Amino acid sequence: KVIGSNSNPDDSNKHDAALRPKLLKEVIGQRKVAERLEIAVRASKKLNEPLGHILFDGPPGLGKTTFATVLPNELGTSIQLTSGPALSKPADLLPFLTNLDEGSVLFIDEIHRMPRIVEEFIYPAMEDFRIDIVLGEGMSARTISMNLKRFTLIGATTRSGMLSGPMRDRFKMHEHLEFYSVEELATIVRVNAAKLNTPITPEAAHELARRSRGTPRVANSRLHWTRNYSAAEHDGPITEPIARAALDMAEVDRDGLDKNDRKYLETLIDLYAGGPTGVEALAATINLASDTLADEIEPYLLREQYITRSPRGRVAMPRAYIALGKLASKPKTE
Ligand code: ADP
Repeated sequence: KVIGSNSNPDDSNKHDAALRPKLLKEVIGQRKVAERLEIAVRASKKLNEPLGHILFDGPPGLGKTTFATVLPNELGTSIQLTSGPALSKPADLLPFLTNLDEGSVLFIDEIHRMPRIVEEFIYPAMEDFRIDIVLGEGMSARTISMNLKRFTLIGATTRSGMLSGPMRDRFKMHEHLEFYSVEELATIVRVNAAKLNTPITPEAAHELARRSRGTPRVANSRLHWTRNYSAAEHDGPITEPIARAALDMAEVDRDGLDKNDRKYLETLIDLYAGGPTGVEALAATINLASDTLADEIEPYLLREQYITRSPRGRVAMPRAYIALGKLASKPKTE
C-alpha cells in the first residue's frame, strides 16, 4: 500500500512500475544485498522492532526504489515516498512524519539533495522517533517535542559522498548496488517479457541484456522499444535479428552505448585530445548538466573501462577509441 506519495519516482514510466518486483524473492541479482535484507526483515518481525534505517546507493536504475518498495511488502506495512528536492523546509516533512503507521517505511529518494536544515530536523526523528518543533518567534519562541510512531527511514542516493557524515552515520545498514551481469539482465528481460505477454527467444533476451548498460531500467526500456518494433514490423516472437534491428534503429550501438555515451566519448577524444579534462568542461561542450554526466553517463563508462579518472580529470581509454572506430594511436595513461 502506497500512501501520501508526493513524488512517484516512476510517474514518467508507468510500465516500469508494473514490472517492478513486489517481493524479495522476485528481485533478480544483487543476491548478497537481498540476503542481508531478508535477515533484517526476519529479525524485525521476530523481535517486533521496526527495521533499522537503510541507505541504498548506486547509479540510477539499479533497483534502489525497488528494494525500498519491496521491504514494506515483506514487513506487511505501508510506505510513503518523497524525495530530497521536494523537502525544502522542515515543515515539508511534517505530513509524512505525522502520517506514519507503527513500523512503516518513509522513503526519501535523492536524499543527498535534502537541505541541511531539513537534515537536522530529521535527526531526532531517526534516533528517538521524536521531532522538535519551534513555535512562535523571537523572545516568545518555544520548542515543543512531539513523539512519532516508530518507523524506518529508507534513503536512496546516487552520490553517497555528498551525504553529510552525521546523516550517513544514522543509517544502520548501507547497501551499495552494483551494475548487473548480462546473465542477470537476460533473466530480467525474459521475466518482464512474460509479464508483458510477449514471447521472446533466449538469444534475443541475451542480445537486449548485452546492450543495456548493466542497468535493469535500461533493459526495461529497450524491451519496450523492441516489443513495439516487433509488433509493428513482424509477427511471432522477438528473435535475435529483430532485437538487433530494433536496437540499431534506436541508435544503441553493438556495445550497448547510446547517443549520449558516444557524444561524451567523441567530445573527450576529438575536442580534448582524449583528456585529461574536467567534467564541467565536458558537460558545457555536450550541453548536458554535469550532474547527468557524473550520475548517469560516467559510472557505466568507468566500470567498463571506456574512461578512467585521474587527478586532472577524465581520460579516454583504448576501449573508447576502439568503440568509436578511431585508431588508438597513442592512448594516454596516467
Ligand atoms: P533506482 O531507484 O535505483 O533508480 P529502480 O528501483 O527504480 O531504480 O529500478 C528501475 C526498474 O528496474 C524497476 O522498475 C524494476 O522494474 C527494474 N529492476 C530494478 N532492479 C531489479 C531487480 N533486481 N530485479 C528485477 N527488476 C529490477
